[in-house]
Amino acid sequence: MYNFKTYDKDFINDQEIFDLLEKGKNPDPAEIRNIIAKSLDKVRLEPQETAKLLQVEDPDLLEEIFEAARKLKQEIYGNRIVFFAPLYIGNKCVNNCLYCGFRKDNDAIVRKTLTAEELKEQVEILESKGHKRLILVYGEHTCYDADFIAETINIVYETKKDKGEIRRVNINAAPMDVEGYKKLKEAGIGTFQIFQETYNHDIYKKLHPQNTIKGDYSWRLYGLDRAMEAGIDDVGIGALFGLYYWKFEVMGLLFHTIHLEETFGVGPHTISFPRIEPAINTEFYDQTKYKVSDEDFKKIISIIRLSVPYTGMILTARESPEVRKEMIPLGISQIDAGSRIGIGGYKKDDYIPEKEQFQLGDMRSLDEVIKEMCDFGYLTSFCTACYRSGRTGDEFMDIAKPGNIQNFCIPNGILTFKEYLLDYASEETRKAGEKLIECELEKIENTNPEKKKMIEEKLKLIDEGKRD
Ligand code: SAM
Ligand code: SF4
Repeated sequence: MYNFKTYDKDFINDQEIFDLLEKGKNPDPAEIRNIIAKSLDKVRLEPQETAKLLQVEDPDLLEEIFEAARKLKQEIYGNRIVFFAPLYIGNKCVNNCLYCGFRKDNDAIVRKTLTAEELKEQVEILESKGHKRLILVYGEHTCYDADFIAETINIVYETKKDKGEIRRVNINAAPMDVEGYKKLKEAGIGTFQIFQETYNHDIYKKLHPQNTIKGDYSWRLYGLDRAMEAGIDDVGIGALFGLYYWKFEVMGLLFHTIHLEETFGVGPHTISFPRIEPAINTEFYDQTKYKVSDEDFKKIISIIRLSVPYTGMILTARESPEVRKEMIPLGISQIDAGSRIGIGGYKKDDYIPEKEQFQLGDMRSLDEVIKEMCDFGYLTSFCTACYRSGRTGDEFMDIAKPGNIQNFCIPNGILTFKEYLLDYASEETRKAGEKLIECELEKIENTNPEKKKMIEEKLKLIDEGKRD
């Protein structure tokens, strides 16, 4: 059982958020341009500034916000995009979140937890497609305690088939106590992700029945503080958009970021902004009045990008290919592809509604998505070098802040992409990828010919069979 800690008061003040949003209404265009300029100087925004961006309605000014977000993404992250895959381990759950297909009272779901053998098999399939980073996902249940989760992490790292290996395992599971997180740290976890779902206290109470563990707002809100106390310094926050008013949730994400920065000296490694999807035998999707349109989704992504310039942003395969194509340039740094979210879903390569939490919008294979990224001029990266050499938390930020993602991450990305092209890509993707690598090398030659030479030498070694 958890070592429960109670929190009397928390750092999300609903009234303060409403007041900031109210004061932000009808913003002066000159002030908005100053706020945009501050973001472009790569400085994290203050809540009153983000509130003003959230209240912009003028189409021309909105276009300036989108353009600035694209520019900032390009300047900090370049055209690199990191790929991962989700791997659902088990769907048993003691909670009853009204919107989720895995909720305890949902009889339409077939409950299943992967055995060690099945887990290995799923990992081998993912490795055979070229994946190097996974996020393991679990319902909340006593059988998914820290020891169990640590064991699944070990199994994933140990499972190596042919040239395949998983180099970074992230986790999306229920909040734990400090002792539990220490076990995960010991097992070599990458990022621990917890989505607050909604930052609004009243709505949270309504959607998470109070007789369940998840009913405790503060236990969840401080879940990542405990992770950081335990030494996990890459943490991911998120809100499930569609539960409440989207502007409120963006403010909640910013307050959460500021709280982590002020308490631990480093903000979240990533922010996720899933939109609610339909789930089997679940009425919530049809009933909620807070669903976010594509147009508002663009604003969410751009304004988060401008508010927290250095935080990674994740866009999942919940979204359709068309939406992903439009949103990625606005600030996204990580996407998943070839994803299946049924328990055991990679074996059948199938849609299994009775085992899925919700429906995915992008069911294309990893190879297809990578090919599309090449056509857009985006460089696929499977790089995990920072994590493996211990550059996490504020040490990663020390690289990100002086603009070194371009200097370190793009070259490393090229090398991991080359490995993918040789070992896993279809003929078509390989051709498109090789062309893209040529373009990247040309760009590097213009700024740093020495670096280009060094990358070419490493590419040659990869051609000869050497792997990272
Ligand atoms: N059970 C753990 C928890 O709730 O934190 C972790 C895994 S849960 C399966 C992962 C996330 O799925 C939740 O945090 C929630 O944001 C998201 N989710 C739940 N129902 C969803 C739906 N209908 N559409 C989209 N995302 C959903
Ligand atoms: Fe369980 Fe998580 Fe789904 Fe809630 S969101 S019902 S805790 S799996």
